[in-house]
Amino acid sequence: MNHKAIFFNFKYWGEGKDYVESSEKLKKAGVEVVFSGELLNKDSIPSEKDFDIAGVFMDSKVDASTISVLPELKFIATLSTGFDHIDLKAAAERGVQVSSVPAYGENTVAEFAFALLLALSRKIREASVRVKDEKKFSTDGLCGFDLAGKTLGVIGTGRIGKHAVRMGKGFGMKIVAYDVYHDDAFAKEMGYSYVSLEEILAESDVITIHCPYLPSTHHLINKNNIGLMKKGAYLINTARGAIVETPAVIAALKSGQLGGAGLDVLEEEANMKAGDMSLDRELVMMPNVIVTPHNAFNTKEAFQRILETTIDNIVAFTEGKPVNLVPNK
Ligand code: NAD
Repeated sequence: MNHKAIFFNFKYWGEGKDYVESSEKLKKAGVEVVFSGELLNKDSIPSEKDFDIAGVFMDSKVDASTISVLPELKFIATLSTGFDHIDLKAAAERGVQVSSVPAYGENTVAEFAFALLLALSRKIREASVRVKDEKKFSTDGLCGFDLAGKTLGVIGTGRIGKHAVRMGKGFGMKIVAYDVYHDDAFAKEMGYSYVSLEEILAESDVITIHCPYLPSTHHLINKNNIGLMKKGAYLINTARGAIVETPAVIAALKSGQLGGAGLDVLEEEANMKAGDMSLDRELVMMPNVIVTPHNAFNTKEAFQRILETTIDNIVAFTEGKPVNLVPNK
């Protein structure tokens, strides 16, 4: 049986397009591949709807109304670990299966979390501006702080969180963790303990978030508990924006409760991509905040692995033995 796959928003993907286009695996599986420069969402439904496979990235918002107008659609392959941009219930009701890329370089995201942390702890941005833009070779106001000896709180000790634990250890940090699932063997091996959410907030000099966005993690850090954090603690979020309540973070940064924040994800990043920064603008402009555009995954090695797994996911679907399916409710 022949299949047709459309990959959405491929305009930024450089060589990735050639890689998918020339994939022998897809050719052998009888998959015709086309590319759209657009996102897939309710405002951007393609005029040609004769595809049974959609390849999407997180910036597409595949909701019920989008799925309902794609009659041939049978399979969504998201080129990401997270799948909160797809209405899984609506997909299941229409018999559309959804696959993700469960692992493509958990070190990649953890490395980025530390890049954000080190940029804050050692004032790398300010130091670079000093030399490059201000043309001054002076250390005035650039005193940072050591990571060694500080306590790193890791929220979510899954694939990425475990790398964050290892990296924190490498920097000589004490680790505490919060997770609904306790990997006691790993905790023993790495010499850390699991504590409650309240305890991790109170004990950590730096919190790094690595849990998924779920109803249970919506505003996990919020106006009611952010005050438990150590005065001057740092918050790193490379997971999902809505795990923290944005106005609470802004208030904590203003009061000095938080010393700084490194954020690769924002609660309103979808709006921000469309040019609307209303909720997050104040946060983005704060001097002790570094915001990056959901870029933690973005290395050439990780991208290669994302493409390989996505191709394998599509081929497995065409063979009637889908893999890496996400739960359908
Ligand atoms: P994972 O599934 O391996 O680990 C997630 C961990 O979070 C698990 O140990 C799980 O038990 C824990 N968890 C679940 N619910 C929790 C809760 N209520 N409180 C505390 N912990 C909870 O996932 P992963 O591969 O480590 O990825 C983590 C998240 O990172 C993804 O869900 C995704 O949102 C995000 N991510 C971001 C980027 C980026 O580019 N910024 C890239 C990849 C992944």
